[in-house]
This record gives sequence, structure tokens and C-alpha cells, in this order.
Amino acid sequence: MAKQRMLQFVNVGKEMPEKRPPNLRAKDFDEIYAEYATPKAEEQAGRCSQCGVPYCQTHCPLHNNIPDWLRLTAEGRLQEAYELSQATNTFPEICGRICPQDRLCEGNCVIEQSGHGTVTIGAVEKYITDTAWENGWVKPIQPRTERAESVGIIGAGPGGLAAADMLRRQGFQVTVYDRYDRAGGLLTYGIPGFKLEKDIVMARIQQLELGGVQFVLNCNVGEDMSFHAIRGQHDAVLIATGVYKTRDLQGPGAGADGIVRAIDFLTASNKKSFGDDVPEFDNGELDARGKRVVVIGGGDTAMDCVRTSIRQGATSVKCLYRRDRENMPGSLREVQNAEEEGVEFVWLTAPKGFTGDSVEGVMVQKMRLGAPDATGRRAPELIEGADYIEKADLVIKALGFEPEDLPALWGVPELEVTRWGTIKADFKTHETNLPGVYAAGDIVRGASLVVWAIRDGREAAEAIMEYVNAAASVAAE
Ligand code: FAD
Ligand code: SF4
Ligand code: SF4
Repeated sequence: MAKQRMLQFVNVGKEMPEKRPPNLRAKDFDEIYAEYATPKAEEQAGRCSQCGVPYCQTHCPLHNNIPDWLRLTAEGRLQEAYELSQATNTFPEICGRICPQDRLCEGNCVIEQSGHGTVTIGAVEKYITDTAWENGWVKPIQPRTERAESVGIIGAGPGGLAAADMLRRQGFQVTVYDRYDRAGGLLTYGIPGFKLEKDIVMARIQQLELGGVQFVLNCNVGEDMSFHAIRGQHDAVLIATGVYKTRDLQGPGAGADGIVRAIDFLTASNKKSFGDDVPEFDNGELDARGKRVVVIGGGDTAMDCVRTSIRQGATSVKCLYRRDRENMPGSLREVQNAEEEGVEFVWLTAPKGFTGDSVEGVMVQKMRLGAPDATGRRAPELIEGADYIEKADLVIKALGFEPEDLPALWGVPELEVTRWGTIKADFKTHETNLPGVYAAGDIVRGASLVVWAIRDGREAAEAIMEYVNAAASVAAE
């Protein structure tokens, strides 16, 4: 009789891939989780109870067919598992590494709800695609036919790249423009290597290049090339430029030297990992070595800054956040990783100002949580008379990002934006108010997640294909 491979959650406990010890991993920028060995991946996939209504799938923004690829993995049919997984996700090995699974697929797994510990969906997804790469199953795109029509994509982050992949598969000529010197957007220059090693991202970009996607790098649209020129050169355009304007700190001394933006700090660190010359790092400005570092904020970016500071050799790293652990926006898994590596979280605190011309300290105000606000979250309230100074040599602002003013920067006042400055686009087709111009990812949603950018990019690509096909059939009449 065939061995029962699924529904093993009662007999087999949840096991994540091994995590490197904190004292070792805090010394480098390599990923902290090892890969499952094959028997372990099969065993963990076999814990799935094959739900008729899989809530994991409903809560995955890409609606990945999770139960089926878990079953194929448990049965050792990995190539089929890979084919199924990549059919709905352009970059499964990336999502498997960096999706906040506790809030998405895994957080909604019925086994988790019943107290047995979730199926480790993300780790299995990563295992499947890493195995596919090792075995040469991930092949460059080879469109069946070439199309004459071209699409210009502004922004080489996950949103733009997911769209490029879909469009190129259909034979469209695709050019991706980006202001950075490497493609990948925040996958390359925002997210640190200990969450996502850079060769994973570069391998994907190389595959896209081999498949015929053209990249025009070091091209800041609005400066090096106008939006109008790009629009004139292509049959359709996708804007996937992300959000990069840093929310600022207020209060006396907020402009002091030594107070830096998270994106600059993380970009410099990632560039150093590529072996680049980075003057602002080499002169010490963006290097945490030997410094008392204070990071302000409680989201993913703040988590990445504290853990990067530890790896750069800071003498102490503190994270100030105005709410408490239960009410922070960042992933709790990341908080735990940071604490293990030596980061100290100072909950219920907010900066009031800064001392020193070159920063020497943060004037900290203590907070408590009051009644829930309009969003249902308990609003922080000031505790009078409890201020103190936290000594600091480097302060990193990680309070979130806002969109740049694209209509003004690009000289396109007719491009409609919301009152938050994000581009207004149709919820499903992602078309803006300008015909043939689409928008996807963070520039539409505001700061969000990689998996949502991928979904948007894929949906926008579908809509662009329909648009170009319709235009082509009108022209043929
Ligand atoms: P981006 O990735 O921002 O890419 C936009 C690209 O457009 C960039 O390459 C930029 O150079 C380019 N561009 C912008 N303006 C122009 C212009 N004028 N001309 C030419 N090119 C331009 N999400 C997760 O799911 N998990 C995580 O763990 C996670 N960690 C994060 C950590 C940090 C530090 C940050 C900042 C974000 C993190 N996110 C995470 C969020 C995630 O990275 C973003 O939601 C996602 O990258 C958005 O994709 P995008 O394609 O819309 O934009
Ligand atoms: Fe889970 Fe993200 Fe993978 Fe979806 S893409 S299954 S949410 S890890
Ligand atoms: Fe399997 Fe959990 Fe998804 Fe159910 S919810 S199909 S048990 S992974």
C-alpha cells in the first residue's frame, strides 16, 4: 500500500530550516536560514492537511496553489512542484525568503489555527525553487513568436520585473529603465543580504536579459530621459517606480550631522556587499562601525537597519518605537532575530529632538498606549516629565516612505495622483488616467510588500497585452 504522505501534522512537529547561531550570523551578510535537506522538506510538506478550502491560498496575494505543490514535494515530484509554483509566482524563491508569512499564508494555515504549528510554506517554496535552479529547470524565456510592439517599464523592482517577464513571454519587446546602476529595486539595494542574498536577485535579472528583456540602467526618468520620450517610443508604458521620499523627523537638532536616512544607509551597505566603492560609507558617514546607533521606527526598514548596524560592528544598537511589541508594524519573526543578534528595543518611546551639532544624543519622550484611533490601533500618548537623553553617534530615520511628486518631476501634470501622492490606477487593470500608461507596486499602493508588487506587475502585464492587442486589431482593420 502506498505510504500516507500527507496529513502528518499530528505526528510531525513544525520545523523551520536551521538558523545559524546569532554570534556567527551577526558577523556577515549571508542569509541566516539554511536550506532543508530533501527528507526534511518532504516531511514538512507532508504535514499539510490538504484542505478543501485552503485559507493559506486565499491569503497569499498570488493565490499560489500551495496544497498541490506541498503534496508534490511530499511525494518527491519536485520538478512538477516547481512548474506549478512558478505558474502563479514570478519569483517564488524570493517570496519564500522574504514574505511576512506569519501575516499571509502561514498565519492563516488551519493547522496553525488548531495549535499544531503552521506548515512551513515559505521555506518549502524556497526549497522547491532553489532546487529548480540547481537542476537547471529555470530556463530563460523563449517566446514562441516575436511581436513588433514594445512596452517601456520604468522601474526595475519586483513590480516592473514581474511585468517584464510576463510581457516578454508573449513575445513583446520589453525595455526596463532604472535610475540605479543595477536592476532589482529594493530587492537589490533595500533589503539586506541576510534576508535575501544578492546572487539570488542577480540570477533572475540575468535570466530576464538572456530572455531578451532590455535594461537601460543609470537612467533617471525625468532627468536623463523624459517620460514623454519613453511614452513616444513604446506602445504602452508601465510606471513601477516605488516610493523613496523619506518621512522626516521633527524637533530641534533634526538636521544635525550623523542623522541619516534608512534608504541611504541600506543602499550604501548593499553596495559595499557588491564590492563597490561607496565614498559616504568609506568616510564613515554611513558606516555604523564603533558607533552607538539609534534607529527610529518599527517597520521592516527599521528591522533591517538595526540588524545591518550590528553586522557593521556598532558598539550598541537601540530601536526606538512609539508603540509596543504587540502593536508594531514589522514582522515579529524579525524582531526576534534582531533581539537574538543583540539589538535592544526601547518600546513606547519617541524622539523629541537631538543634541550636538554632530549628533550626540536623542531627547527621548516616553509614551503609553491610549484609546484605539480611527484605524483601531491604540494611539500612543505622551507621558509628561519622563524625558531622558539616549546617547547616540548615528541616528537612522526609518519612519517610512512616501511617493515622490512624479507629475511635477516628470512634467506630466495631467497624470492623476491620490491625495497621498500615489498614482491613481484602476484596481484590476492598473491603467492610469492616461491611455496606454499603467502603474504597479508601491507607487500605487504606498510602501507595501514584494509579493503585492509581483501581483500588480503580473496583472498590469495582462491588461497591457489586451490593450496592445486591441490597438493592433484596430490598426489591422
Ligand atoms: P521598488 O522595489 O522600489 O523598485 C522601484 C524601482 O524604480 C527602483 O529600482 C528605482 O530605482 C526605480 N525608479 C524610481 N524612480 C525612477 C525614475 N525616475 N527613473 C528610473 N527609475 C526609477 N517587502 C517584503 O515583502 N518583505 C520584506 O522583507 C521587505 N523588506 C523591506 C526592507 C526595506 C528596507 C524596504 C525599504 C522595503 C522592504 N519591503 C519588503 C518592501 C518591498 O521591498 C517593496 O514593497 C517592493 O520592493 C516594491 O516593489 P516596486 O517594484 O513597486 O518598487
Ligand atoms: Fe506565502 Fe508569499 Fe509564497 Fe504566497 S508568495 S505562498 S504569501 S510566501
Ligand atoms: Fe495545508 Fe495549511 Fe494550506 Fe490547509 S491551510 S492546505 S493545512 S498549508
